[in-house]
Amino acid sequence: MKIAVFPGSFDPITLGHFDIIERAVPLFDKLIIAIGQNSQKKYMFPLEKRIEFIRKATEQFHNVEVDFFEGLTVDYCLEKEAQFILRGLRNPADFEFEKAIAHTNRTLAHKKLETVFLLTSSGKSFISSSIVREIITHGGEYELLVPDVVRV
Ligand code: ADP
Repeated sequence: MKIAVFPGSFDPITLGHFDIIERAVPLFDKLIIAIGQNSQKKYMFPLEKRIEFIRKATEQFHNVEVDFFEGLTVDYCLEKEAQFILRGLRNPADFEFEKAIAHTNRTLAHKKLETVFLLTSSGKSFISSSIVREIITHGGEYELLVPDVVRV
């Protein structure tokens, strides 16, 4: 069974995340969307809300699960018996950052974890949760950038 973990903050889930999820669904037997919860970090949406948004946005996919974890992504993946980490690539800056993380995770997992990257579909690569939060804070039309189920 091919199990992939898609880790992230998802604060909130965007159409960029959704694009990656939708395209990864046929590639794996099970896709676990896992919210990495860092107690030091301040989020706009509480964990329960972020989980609810992802659940509702992905309910049509029968092989998708939504979960959260604290601590290292590798430890979570090994606990779930996942062989793959899924990440999205928007631009060269993402690539540089993700390259270091992917090598580190493979080393920490003693080569038991491969990171699989999907390129964002054109037209979605400018979207980020931080920009969405900024738009929400200033009363802009954030609905254009997130799945329909994400409403504040
Ligand atoms: P993190 O805090 O780990 O960066 P995010 O929720 O911001 O968490 O992102 C999780 C994953 O989703 C990352 O792999 C990121 O590259 C990817 N991602 C975020 N926005 C987009 C987008 N617009 N298109 C494709 N992938 C994206």
